[in-house]
Amino acid sequence: MNIRLAGHDYKYAVEQILLSVFPEERADFRSTDATENLALSTLEVKDGYGVSISKIRYKGKAAEAVVESPSPLPVEKILRDRELQRLVKLSFYRASVRITGNSPPWGAVTGIRPVKLATRYIAENSALPSEAADFLVREYHVAPSRGKLCSYAAEASFRAMEQLNERDVSLYIAIPFCPSRCAYCSFVSQSVEKAFKLVTPYMNALKMEIEQTGKLIKKLGLNVKTVYIGGGTPTSLSAEMLSDLMETTAKNIDLRSCCEYTVEAGRPDTITEDRLRAIKRGGATRISINPQSMRDCVLEVIGRNHTGSDIEKSFALARKLGFDVINMDLIAGLPSDTVEGFKYSLNRVLELGPENITVHTLSIKRGSRLINGGYEIPGGRTVGAMLDYGFDTLYENNFKPYYLYKQKFTPGGYENTGWSRAGTDSLYNICIMEELHSIISVGAGGVTKLVDATTGRIERIFNKKYPREYIDSIDSTVAAKSLISDYRHKGFTKRQLTADDRKHF
Ligand code: SF4
Repeated sequence: MNIRLAGHDYKYAVEQILLSVFPEERADFRSTDATENLALSTLEVKDGYGVSISKIRYKGKAAEAVVESPSPLPVEKILRDRELQRLVKLSFYRASVRITGNSPPWGAVTGIRPVKLATRYIAENSALPSEAADFLVREYHVAPSRGKLCSYAAEASFRAMEQLNERDVSLYIAIPFCPSRCAYCSFVSQSVEKAFKLVTPYMNALKMEIEQTGKLIKKLGLNVKTVYIGGGTPTSLSAEMLSDLMETTAKNIDLRSCCEYTVEAGRPDTITEDRLRAIKRGGATRISINPQSMRDCVLEVIGRNHTGSDIEKSFALARKLGFDVINMDLIAGLPSDTVEGFKYSLNRVLELGPENITVHTLSIKRGSRLINGGYEIPGGRTVGAMLDYGFDTLYENNFKPYYLYKQKFTPGGYENTGWSRAGTDSLYNICIMEELHSIISVGAGGVTKLVDATTGRIERIFNKKYPREYIDSIDSTVAAKSLISDYRHKGFTKRQLTADDRKHF
């Protein structure tokens, strides 16, 4: 669609709305051709108020929407910019919906972290989480079911903030190896068999980075509040390697403040008793066993070397060895899956009784085999029906959403949501999604995110992506961590929920 902007340059905002309401269209901001499919987005400031008008002509239909700021525009640049952008998005969204009749689940919300809108609304208006849900529905045209997700996740975010001190950080350790590659994967992970030669040098480089990072953490007086060993599939490593890694971590990093230590056990085809024992001995308090589906036919199509019954055996073994917080991931919309199939998977997972269930939606990413792979991928409506069933069933089974993010490249524009039973939220997951504090990452593909909670400013330090280049550049990777020295955590600006607020929720 040819799009012309007047009075502003919020291309990204307009483009995101276009993709969400007209998924088959792409934005063209340069063409001046008169065409059948054309949009005009304007923004004006009159007497201190902003006004955005969008006009769209599409396949013989025409629509217009006008949105005005309800009060004078803020003087502060960041706030003013945010409000002007909101007006542009809303007018473009309303005109688009008038043409197509589609109303996407996330309405005019374009970012991947919609919960931040809810936490900000609560903080700025001393509002209740349920009022934040109403605000999202009213002002951003978010579906009520998504407003509810955000309100619960916002509440969890405030709960998490209450647990954090100014010098707390989290530590992420990356193990970029997997036993084989899943069809939907676009991650940099390498198959252990193919990259076998790299595993030992990789672990040596990683241990060196952990040692140096530990020194830095000590020098800066930071407290490691959560640790997350993720991947890839960390349990692709042998039990001895896992023990060695966790011992190195404990020896070099003071874990006395650590209240949550997660290891992604990931794929059941890597879960063995000796590995689980090594993880337990190493201090993990939480593991993730990820079926994605409990249907053998779907597991086969996506290239996982295990069955639904292997998942049940792994789960029983983990329980026997004393893991009392277990997460399980499912994906809605896997190739060849159906609504009935997804229901079956969720119900079988619920029967196992994990504390956390994360429901992802399939993302069709470049670099995965799903692109041009001839897979039968469920459409947006089917995925929507899977998620609707998931919401009802998980609420009924006393799970609540505690973190979420909007997923890109999904049929239907849906989200990934972490659900938990009371008292079992993963603090790490909330911290990373809501950017509540800094996450120091080690290993290939690791991205250290330094959060200044006062200004909301975030700085990133990128490690090399692939194991080979990570190994070769370990000295410069370690040296780059010294940027963390500049980091000063300034304290929280978000209002904390009181016990009284929660009673009203
Ligand atoms: S387990 Fe995860 S990281 Fe590994 S291949 Fe599958 S999707 Fe990719």
